[in-house]
Amino acid sequence: MDNQISLDTSTPNKTLSSSQPPNKTGVIVVGAGLAGLAAATRLQAENIPFLLVEASDAVGGRVRTDFVDGFTLDRGFQIFITAYPEARELLDYDALDLQRFYSGAKVFFGGRFHTVADPLRHFSDAVLSLANPIGTVVDKLLIGLSRIRVLSRSDYNLLTADEVKTIDLLRKTGFSDSVLDRFFRPFFGGVFFDRELETTSRLFDFVFKCLALGDNTLPKNGISAIPEQLAGKLNPSSIILNSRVASVDCDSDEGIVVNLSSGELLRSDLGVILAIEEFEAANILAGKIDTGRVKEPVRSTVCLYFSVDADKVPVKDPALFLNGSGRGIVNNMFFATNVAPSYAPPGKGLVSVSLIGSYEGVPDEELVKRVVEELSGWFGSEAVGWWRYMRMYRVGFAQPNQCPPTNLMKDPKLKEGLYICGDYVTSATFDGALVSGKRAVEALLKDRTIVKV
Ligand SMILES: Cc1cc2nc3c(=O)[nH]c(=O)nc-3n(C[C@H](O)[C@H](O)[C@H](O)COP(=O)(O)OP(=O)(O)OC[C@H]3O[C@@H](n4cnc5c(N)ncnc54)[C@H](O)[C@@H]3O)c2cc1C
Repeated sequence: MDNQISLDTSTPNKTLSSSQPPNKTGVIVVGAGLAGLAAATRLQAENIPFLLVEASDAVGGRVRTDFVDGFTLDRGFQIFITAYPEARELLDYDALDLQRFYSGAKVFFGGRFHTVADPLRHFSDAVLSLANPIGTVVDKLLIGLSRIRVLSRSDYNLLTADEVKTIDLLRKTGFSDSVLDRFFRPFFGGVFFDRELETTSRLFDFVFKCLALGDNTLPKNGISAIPEQLAGKLNPSSIILNSRVASVDCDSDEGIVVNLSSGELLRSDLGVILAIEEFEAANILAGKIDTGRVKEPVRSTVCLYFSVDADKVPVKDPALFLNGSGRGIVNNMFFATNVAPSYAPPGKGLVSVSLIGSYEGVPDEELVKRVVEELSGWFGSEAVGWWRYMRMYRVGFAQPNQCPPTNLMKDPKLKEGLYICGDYVTSATFDGALVSGKRAVEALLKDRTIVKV
């Protein structure tokens, strides 16, 4: 057997040391976002020594949280859906202490809020909302039928089905323009950072199914609790932070060699898994392996946080508020402390406001001014007058562009010993990133025959 390798699995990673990383290990995983963490988790489960090499100062990648003066500020508004299938396998939900959103949304339209409720969870709200202007009664029936359609199919089937743009699927289903503009564009536009809804129907169907089966939540200690939980189960000496990989040499006599920006070299016995963003992988492999063209534009968002005294929070609902008016720059917002009181110190509330797009060239002060003016129209200028601007996150790269044509089941193998994972390899979700990490390890294991001694 050509690739047969013997590993002493009795003391995994025994040669690793945090002060000075060894320059040779079993597998090198580059990037400690959810995909890299999932890959490392699987390698550890197989007792395969690995190094997880991360450029930044912490694990999590795009899933990070800052803790500022007792406030919990996620780096961009993110929601964790409990029904994500791979997440259910990997994460301890009880330890995350997930805080639930209202199952539905409050839509701002015509100068007031209208409730869109999940009939299976909030039946009476849903009945009352039948006559509201967010959609027709037929629309509400079609939402039920769409739910049955996705629930009757497997995830694999949804992610590989014939695809169209989401907007075309919704139009073909028969939804009215009013429900498209007042609910689907702000809600799913917020999920995909794409108000045009040009994202593939495959991703829409998968997320729609997860929403039907699970709750929208936030971990009590911030969204970064998710990657931190995964990292906490890994051998700490296998994780190297603040170390950027500059290039990967696939044709060295010594196997695949990873070059760090510091000049250090790392070598692997079994292979390298690139768990980095698509454009980073393209840069690192430039001139060696063509990874294809990165689809543009990538998806961007801006998230603004405001603090307010708890008794001045204008509503108590743990709901997502959507802009169904078709005007303004706010896409969605919520009172984070209505969902998770732990997101602010005692006596304080936290407001989170999300815009779609990068707003490059628009100064921060201008964005804050426009948001305050706009939300004064929603909640009244007296209420919004109490809000204090805290911080803004401009996330230039929030998600890859997953408009048709897509392949949400990309082969993780670039060549024997070199594999990719990340949300761009599967679906641009937490779950897609997690499952892609597992699949990259499975492809490596298939290529290498490992004999445990
Ligand atoms: C604001 C925002 C909101 C979102 N909302 C949701 C949501 O509600 N629900 C949902 O399911 N998904 C959401 N997503 C998407 C989700 O966060 C991503 O799909 C997922 O986290 C991607 O994980 P990843 O591991 O593929 O990539 P990343 O998280 O990007 O990880 C890549 C890692 O590689 C590191 N790296 C890059 N280059 C190098 C190098 N050369 N050397 C070493 N390390 C390197 C990076 O520093 C990073 O840590 C959101 C994303 C953002 C930004």
